[in-house]
Amino acid sequence: MTVFHQERLLFTPVNPETNAIPTIFAFPNEYTIGITSLGYQIVWATLAMRSDVDVRRLFTDLSEPLPRNPELLGFSVSWELDYINIFNLLESSDIPLHSDIRTDDHPLVFGGGTVLTANPEPLADFFDVILLGDGEDLLDNFIDAYQQVRNADRQTKLRHLAQVPGVYIPSLYQVTYHSLDGEIKAIAPIDIDIPTEVQKQTYRGNTLSASTVVTEKAAWENIYMVEVVRSCPEMCRFCLASYLTLPFRTASLEGSLIPAIEKGLKVTNRLGLLGASVTQHPEFEAILDYLSQPQYQDVRLSIASVRTNTVTEKLASTLAKRDTRSITIAVESGSEKVRQIVNKKLTNEEIIQAAINAKAGGLKALKLYGMVGIPGEEMTDVEQTVAMMTAIKKAAPGLRLTLGCSTFVPKSHTPFQWFGVNPDAKKRLKYLEKNLRKQGIDFRPESYNWSVIQALISRGDRRLGKLLQLTREYGDSVGSYKRAFKQLKGQIPTLDYYVHDHWESEERILPWQHIQGALPQKTLVRHLNEAMNFKATS
Ligand code: SF4
Repeated sequence: MTVFHQERLLFTPVNPETNAIPTIFAFPNEYTIGITSLGYQIVWATLAMRSDVDVRRLFTDLSEPLPRNPELLGFSVSWELDYINIFNLLESSDIPLHSDIRTDDHPLVFGGGTVLTANPEPLADFFDVILLGDGEDLLDNFIDAYQQVRNADRQTKLRHLAQVPGVYIPSLYQVTYHSLDGEIKAIAPIDIDIPTEVQKQTYRGNTLSASTVVTEKAAWENIYMVEVVRSCPEMCRFCLASYLTLPFRTASLEGSLIPAIEKGLKVTNRLGLLGASVTQHPEFEAILDYLSQPQYQDVRLSIASVRTNTVTEKLASTLAKRDTRSITIAVESGSEKVRQIVNKKLTNEEIIQAAINAKAGGLKALKLYGMVGIPGEEMTDVEQTVAMMTAIKKAAPGLRLTLGCSTFVPKSHTPFQWFGVNPDAKKRLKYLEKNLRKQGIDFRPESYNWSVIQALISRGDRRLGKLLQLTREYGDSVGSYKRAFKQLKGQIPTLDYYVHDHWESEERILPWQHIQGALPQKTLVRHLNEAMNFKATS
């Protein structure tokens, strides 16, 4: 039995018409990872429910029988470093990596997902079409528009697709620079028929996503996922999950969430509630009450994210009864000043109370999530994180504590997009490690070096295409990026330019300047200035 036969589908694929568009929809990683991506599941099901599309799935380790001459090849990209797998899959399908040398005999290579929506530019040379934003209407609009020009030549197809809101055709925009290794001078469409800006698409309905497939081969075995909320109203100044996807939207309880949960729990007893801030759903208590019914007593419940001041004893005990032993809260820092800078509306008392409630509700462990290198952070702030963890340990003895910690990485479309990565972050991670572990508090840092690479891709422009290709030849390590930068010295900007430099805000042309995000730039600048006022006054 193949892994595909082990899938339980929660939708009904239709039989493709004889003239359906032969399409490959790929996830640039292994099946277990791809099939656990709700975004991938939804796009695949949407395509599989169209009779005018004959879609087959492709992962790095396996695939369904693929068409010999696909017309469309799509990628769902949710992790920056998967670009290497995109290159591999293109090569193994005999498709040129660069869109400008593909011919009418090659498929149109399209992509979507968080990474491409946030900043498509480092991968711009490799995609013919990039879908920006929520897929709900965008995907169907894209396929409908493609049908209208299906028999045309490649250039006509691309120009036609460029008229669809949210469809970005990188080759139809020209980027010029002040110098080879200098700043961007201008980003402009190649002629007046092409829109000057592409608007990221926002779905406004109150029926959000739910799994279309459940399988024991998923990374979270047999999980059925429902999206409870989309985006987050908190707007922490560094947060892509909030700023990129605003406005905050909630699934209607009776109209969509409960029916979706009922449907899923007929085929599995493992339920994941997804969203950047699940517990901020206005009827979250009602969801918990619903899941507390006796017929669901065997349900294993996982919650993606819990806002600290919503960790009540009731929430903790509902989770504890549903086989959850631990809960994760994002606190960012133990310093009130740093939390004010990032707009995290949270006090140390609330964090300590969350730990007390978690323990009282029967949870065994609490994982906190923090960050170092936030703009304005000083060593004294990091010391306060140690003090806060010590205080939590004292207030909730016996609760297993973990601090997961990343390095601040600037993300496009957020107020902190102009800041660079602070090189002192590495030292600060070490300091936390030393001072927490000696108290028996588990410390799990994310690699500083990989944060640097994430920042590179996050703030990169098209010139990085060359570097990414070269890096791949040198192997998959941080040293490979450094080596590639050295080799391209003078031809592209330096690593510092992309990663560590502070970019002056107002004047500078950003690599994603032609992509309209959820908020206008002047709002981001206002939020940045508010944050900097906290930095100055504290
Ligand atoms: S609370 Fe979490 S998800 Fe919401 S904006 Fe802050 S960091 Fe992002």
